[in-house]
Amino acid sequence: MRWIDGHCDVLSKMWRDPQYRSFYAQGSPLDSSYHCLCEADVAMQVFAVWTPESVPRQQRLAVALKEIDFFYEEVVRDGSRVFLVTDGGQMDECGHGRIGALLLLEGADALHGDLANLRLFHRLGVRQMGLTWNFANEVADGIYEERGGGLTRFGRQVIMEMKRLGMILDVSHLSDRGFWEVIEETGLPILASHSNCRAVCAHKRNLGDEQIEALIQRQGLIGVTFVPEFVHHCAAEATIDQVLRHVEHICALGGADHLFFGSDFDGFANKLPGLESYSRLPQLVEALSKRYGDDLVRKWGWENGKQFYQRHLSP
Ligand SMILES: [Zn+2]
Repeated sequence: MRWIDGHCDVLSKMWRDPQYRSFYAQGSPLDSSYHCLCEADVAMQVFAVWTPESVPRQQRLAVALKEIDFFYEEVVRDGSRVFLVTDGGQMDECGHGRIGALLLLEGADALHGDLANLRLFHRLGVRQMGLTWNFANEVADGIYEERGGGLTRFGRQVIMEMKRLGMILDVSHLSDRGFWEVIEETGLPILASHSNCRAVCAHKRNLGDEQIEALIQRQGLIGVTFVPEFVHHCAAEATIDQVLRHVEHICALGGADHLFFGSDFDGFANKLPGLESYSRLPQLVEALSKRYGDDLVRKWGWENGKQFYQRHLSP
C-alpha cells in the first residue's frame, strides 16, 4: 500500500555520525534507508532538518545547512530514485519507482532571528517549518519550556513571511499557548507532523482533544507517531494495538479525513515491538486493515497526506 510519512530524522543522524551516511547501502543502519522505504512502499517521505540543543546557538544555522547538504548529496543525488517535492503537482509523481522528499525545518532556531535565513531555506527547498523543538527560541516557546510562552514579536514576523512564501506550519513540539496563537492565524496551512493524543497517553508532546478538534477544523493533519513514550504511559509496554488506540481516538473526534502517520523513525532509539523500522510497516498496515478495512487505511496511509500537500504546496 502506497504510504506517506510525515516525519523522519535521517538528516540529523547523518550529521551526527558518519556511519549513517549510507542511505542507499544494502544493510544500511538507518531505519529509513532507501531499501526500507521501498520495502514499505513509501511514496513520499518528509525529512526533518533538526539541530540538537547541545549545538551552541550561533552554530545552529551552520548545522542545518550541513544537514541540507546531506539531503542533496546522500539522499536526492541525481534525483532518479528520490526527488525533492516543492509543488503540489508533484504528488502524483510520487511512488512510481521514485520517492518524493519534502524538506521540513524542525525548529526555527536555525534562522538566528533573521527573516533572510527563512527566505534562503525556502530557496533551498524547505516548504514546512516547525516553530520550535522542545525549548524556547527567538520565535516561540517549545512544550518543555516551563513558562509556557507563546509567539514572540519576531515569531509573528516569521509567520507573516511563511504566509507570503506559501509555507506549511508544523505545530509538533510547540507550547500549548503557541499552538493556540498559531491556530488563530489565518492564511497558512497547519499540521502536527508527529504527535499523538493526550487522552490516550498523557504526554506533553501529545495533543489535547481541543487541539485535535482545532486542527480538524483548520483542515490540518495529525501525524500519529510510533515513539513508544507518546504511544503508551509505560513506554516499555507500547504495542501496535496501542498505536491503533490513537487512530481510534482521532476518528472518534471526527478526524478520519485528517489523520496520517509521522513515524519519527531515526529520531528515537527504543522501538515499539513490531515497528522497529520501515521494513516492519506491513505489520501496522495489516493490523489497521483488520480493524478498519482497506479504504480507510489507504486514506490514512496515503490519500489524506497526499491531498493536504497537493493543496498546500504552491508552485
Ligand atoms: Zn521531533
